[in-house]
Amino acid sequence: MKDLTSLVSGFRRFQENFFSEDTRLFDQLKKAQHPKILAIACCDSRVDPSLLTDCDPGDLFVIRNVANLVPPYQPDAHYHGVSAAVEYAVCFLNVEYILVMGHSQCGGIQSLMEKTGGCEDGNNEFIDKWVSLAQPAKETVLKELGDKPKEIQTRACEQASILLSLENLLTFPQILKRVEAGTLSLQAWYVDIQTGALLSYNPKSGEFEVLVNHPE
Ligand SMILES: [Zn+2]
Repeated sequence: MKDLTSLVSGFRRFQENFFSEDTRLFDQLKKAQHPKILAIACCDSRVDPSLLTDCDPGDLFVIRNVANLVPPYQPDAHYHGVSAAVEYAVCFLNVEYILVMGHSQCGGIQSLMEKTGGCEDGNNEFIDKWVSLAQPAKETVLKELGDKPKEIQTRACEQASILLSLENLLTFPQILKRVEAGTLSLQAWYVDIQTGALLSYNPKSGEFEVLVNHPE
């Protein structure tokens, strides 16, 4: 695993790649960003959406949080970091796609399914409350797959919670308006980090289907 010194060397390589005479990508990007895609992904160190999709700076506007969850539209006096970033992407950047990218072996969903680990006194002050956003997904899974092994239930909950995030996105009036007008599309992807495959949700079949097969 890398330490901070290697991050500095990494930044030097980044400069060479993106600020050098031949690329000049940042000649444009320093003036403004025009990403077409908002990616909502998990904080997990294994699922960086830009790395996974080989994107350049400026390609993706990214929100990352525990278990790639989106809260429902809730205009009140509280601080809403995810909603603020969603609003910026939709209303200021006019993104054309919102891609919620979940993944297998998600620690956030695992802790929702089965309380594990955490702070020394066993009291997670923020995580439990945060992942409870996906409680409806958990309940559906337990109802439908209550007799199945834990791994199957967790995988199903990882996928169901992605769809719940899409539902919650549609509670934002600006998003619903744009989706109905056909100027914004919501997509659900699932990265299987165990096999290396990428799945995409097909609303017609109601299933996550293989978009990129696992490597041979
Ligand atoms: Zn995760």
